[in-house]
Amino acid sequence: MNELRTDRLTGRNVIIVPGRATRPVTSPDRTVGATSSGTADIAKCPFCVGNETTTPPEVFRTGSGAPDTPGWRVRIVPNLYPIVDETQVSPIAQGCHEVAVLSPNHGTDFGGLSDLEASEVLLSLRARTIFHRDSGRAHTQLFINQGRTAGASIAHPHAQIVTLDAVPPMVEEELQRFANSPDNILRQDFEESSGAGAEVLTVGRVQAWCPLGSTSSYVVRIAEIDSKVTPTVGIEYASDELLNEMAITLRDVLFMLTKTLNEPDYNVVFHNAPTSDKLRDNYHWWIEVIPRISVLGGFELGSGIYVNTVEPVVAAKTLADAI
Ligand SMILES: [Zn+2]
Repeated sequence: MNELRTDRLTGRNVIIVPGRATRPVTSPDRTVGATSSGTADIAKCPFCVGNETTTPPEVFRTGSGAPDTPGWRVRIVPNLYPIVDETQVSPIAQGCHEVAVLSPNHGTDFGGLSDLEASEVLLSLRARTIFHRDSGRAHTQLFINQGRTAGASIAHPHAQIVTLDAVPPMVEEELQRFANSPDNILRQDFEESSGAGAEVLTVGRVQAWCPLGSTSSYVVRIAEIDSKVTPTVGIEYASDELLNEMAITLRDVLFMLTKTLNEPDYNVVFHNAPTSDKLRDNYHWWIEVIPRISVLGGFELGSGIYVNTVEPVVAAKTLADAI
């Protein structure tokens, strides 16, 4: 039976329509064969080892070696084609844009990293977020676009760091939603979803679950869920231990999605509190993984009501069985 739900964290409406996934599909799939990772791609990939001089000078690395030479494990450089820059009049479009190359290996996405490698990526993103906070930026947005349909133009796995001199309206609305509730809405979302059977994975204090109000199929949320501690508002305040647990959970969730959905394109979006905002103390840092296995149709674009064809409880059970 179809069911209308409202997501606690975003306020978005979604109709869960499980039967719709089985409808006949006769339109051609134009995404097949869109990616490859042959030796020719690696030779001209600006993020591969040996091609360091084809990017702007690096601003951060882990590993060994001199800047802009091999030896790195995670390497962060300014984006050659930034979304925002320093020349804008409006602070919402003013800031800087960096790329974090996740691994020297062209074919290894976050889901293929070891425990140590995954942790090192989040430690690197924390270091840059602290740098930008201390530089006076209003907000730092972290994300991973993996695959062409998720927005990536370069196949080599990388995360992106976009800093802004103003807080984006959607972030402000989310802060307001946390502040308006007497209870922690992230924890409520977890408890409601896991209570219905939509939990996916637990690593130490960190939980992964499919939210009941998922606006698309196989969305997974990841956060520290511990009623005994005050929630961390952003990655820049997370301990090494928490980052390690978040990294392993994210890695395992991406591995599950790869196995279950046959290497889908995906976005990983970090929901972090802005640098300074009167509402930030009520916030709770979380990560969302969104597989790009469907596109928005005309109904969704026109009405703002999303359609999800996979019941999140079923999605969670399918993912949990994959490991
Ligand atoms: Zn590469």
